[in-house]
Amino acid sequence: MRSGKVNRLALLLALACGVPAAVAGDWFERFKAEATHGELHRFLYAMPKGGDLHLHLTGSALSEWLHEIALAEAAQGVAYYVKTRIDNCAVDAGQADAHLLLHRIVDKHRFEALSECERGEYQALSALDAEQRAAWMNSVRLDAPHEGRDEFFERHWQRLGDLLRNPHVVAEILYRNMRAFADEGVAYIEPQVPVFGFLDRAGAPLAPEAVLAIYRQRMKQADAQATGVVVRMQLSALRFHPQAEQVVRRIYQLAAEHADIVAVNLVGREDHDRGHPLRFLDTFRDLRRTYPGVRLSIHAGESARPDSHVRDTLLLGATRIGHGLNLIQDAQTLLGLRHGPYLVEVNLISNLLLGYVDGFDAHPFPEYLRTGVPVALSTDDRGMWDSTLTDEFFVAVREYGLTWAELRALGRNSLAFSFLDDATKSRLLTEYARRMDQFAKNFQRRGVAALGDVQPLRRGFICRHYGLCEGDGDKEGVHRGNG
Ligand SMILES: [Zn+2]
Repeated sequence: MRSGKVNRLALLLALACGVPAAVAGDWFERFKAEATHGELHRFLYAMPKGGDLHLHLTGSALSEWLHEIALAEAAQGVAYYVKTRIDNCAVDAGQADAHLLLHRIVDKHRFEALSECERGEYQALSALDAEQRAAWMNSVRLDAPHEGRDEFFERHWQRLGDLLRNPHVVAEILYRNMRAFADEGVAYIEPQVPVFGFLDRAGAPLAPEAVLAIYRQRMKQADAQATGVVVRMQLSALRFHPQAEQVVRRIYQLAAEHADIVAVNLVGREDHDRGHPLRFLDTFRDLRRTYPGVRLSIHAGESARPDSHVRDTLLLGATRIGHGLNLIQDAQTLLGLRHGPYLVEVNLISNLLLGYVDGFDAHPFPEYLRTGVPVALSTDDRGMWDSTLTDEFFVAVREYGLTWAELRALGRNSLAFSFLDDATKSRLLTEYARRMDQFAKNFQRRGVAALGDVQPLRRGFICRHYGLCEGDGDKEGVHRGNG
């Protein structure tokens, strides 16, 4: 961590190195040099933020939300059960992995089909005691040093399987996100929403159109509308799935037919030998022969090792790149992206927790930002990181000393590179500029007093990583040199 002394030294060095005094001496630089961690976090929570362009809806549910939403389904006759012990009941070989997964949640249809021995391993979600409840919620957060990519990709999603097959649960996750994002000043989100493999409350399969109708209906309700957050959806295909091409065709068609589905994405581990981008080149070219106007925002370069995935993904037709971490190792593509029409969606906390960088000092984000590669900050699977978009900005300011102009550029990019229609985009950009001006003016006039009633959400990641929640975070002072 950077101490206040280091901050002031950096300031002096910046002056010595010829950074214009207008930057080095401006109100935001003074605030950063003097602010406690807590004050900086409160400032960034209250700051208007534009949009979040890269989030997976089902990975964006805080664990308490999942618990509350699952229990609330009881009113609709839906019950959930959690595996709280393993009795080594005989299982089919194909089920062994799921069988040995503690804290797996199943719906009543699956529960009732289990053998008596297996049923004995589960308890009703509503019957868990406080300790079991906490253990279940903890099992879907990536918060222990030994957890990483495998825990996330191979276990978190499998645990939540049945809960996330209920479209009403996912619709409620969407609403909770709209509310929480509104609270931290976000105007727009573009979540990647699931539409396949869903069942209705009676256990019958639902078509993607029916699932989308449930999401739309939830977004239309008064409480969701009151958040003011504008939502457009992306659909994604699991890139290494044997039938991924068919899935891409289906979601491409849905995106072409529905104005509120603004892009198609490819997700899942790129290091899987069936997940590389060029597998899909013929498919996308074929689809473009039939359908106009479908945008692509595709995960690429989410890897610590060099490869040509970012370049290949641009060849697929993507105009936004999710992560782009190893772009830094592909000089020619990197040069091509400078000042270009493409944006890299940067997810700092995700990259750290999944072990794609060893520390924030190894992240290429400041290099992209400061060499003219368009970037925006986003949250990816913040429910599982136990974090917020504010936390991404906090990391960026703390680790890379962002200026006020850079913060504004990030917010502006997150709207300018969105897949919104031109009229809505223009309205949100105008509002963003106005809100930022007002926020800066108010803060310059009143200082931290302007943040008086701001109560930022402080979740596990920021608490653990920056000691922000030990007692009163505001006492953990940057300028008090707490290291
Ligand atoms: Zn992602």
